[in-house]
Amino acid sequence: CGIVGAVSSRNIVPILVQGLQRLEYRGYDSCGVAVHAASLSGGTGGLQRARSTSRVAELMDQVSADHIEGGTGIAHTRWATHGAPAVHNAHPHFSHGPADAKPGKTLGSAPDRPGRVALVHNGIIENHEELRAALQAKGYVFLSQTDTEVIAHLVDSVYDGDLFEAVKTAIRQLHGAYAIAVFHKDEPQRVIGARAGSPLILGVGQGETFLASDAMALAGVTDQIVYLEEGDVVDIQLGKYWVVDRDHKAVSRVVKTVHAHS
Ligand code: GLU
Repeated sequence: CGIVGAVSSRNIVPILVQGLQRLEYRGYDSCGVAVHAASLSGGTGGLQRARSTSRVAELMDQVSADHIEGGTGIAHTRWATHGAPAVHNAHPHFSHGPADAKPGKTLGSAPDRPGRVALVHNGIIENHEELRAALQAKGYVFLSQTDTEVIAHLVDSVYDGDLFEAVKTAIRQLHGAYAIAVFHKDEPQRVIGARAGSPLILGVGQGETFLASDAMALAGVTDQIVYLEEGDVVDIQLGKYWVVDRDHKAVSRVVKTVHAHS
């Protein structure tokens, strides 16, 4: 029911988790966070995640214990619509496709290597069943019962070196309501967001950029807010961002100073 995302050069995990805490009022049954471990200078590794069916405070303990740190990340509070409230259904979801199988092998019931795409989603994908069948036929493996996992696999399946392009292509196939935030293993300092039917805002910081369900999630972090419009797709990077509208035409959206109180 809530999304927070960031691209920064500092460890952004505490801000992501505090953002989730500020979105707790919306209600949720589970929560999670994923980071790109190589997005900080000196950082190595790929996608890392922690997910929980207890409170956001417990998620914070889990990320500290597991040393989950990164400058690029996404976080989520879930209100289950498809698939029971359970850790394996909690977001972020990772893609598990042919690229994650050992060389020369097809993917078994579980991935041999960590996925390439990490994604969070608010809303409902109406055509998830037909998309799932098509992706399974291409060798994608589903580890949850959510409609959301379909989007992660779909983005992976159309990815050709540019996540912004991949998300624009993938969302053309989605029917339903969504706000999403996505990052890719091969692009450590980039998060792509999109909204249609669910809220998503952009936060402009000093050399860092954020996404969130509402401005309150970023209270104390930045008061420079862009309210994305229906159909917008946004590319956030270190200290810069781009927005395209529903026709994928570049647009400039107004930055407002918002005094959010928590
Ligand atoms: N439909 C998705 C799920 O059940 C997202 C729910 C939400 O908006 O939190 O996982």
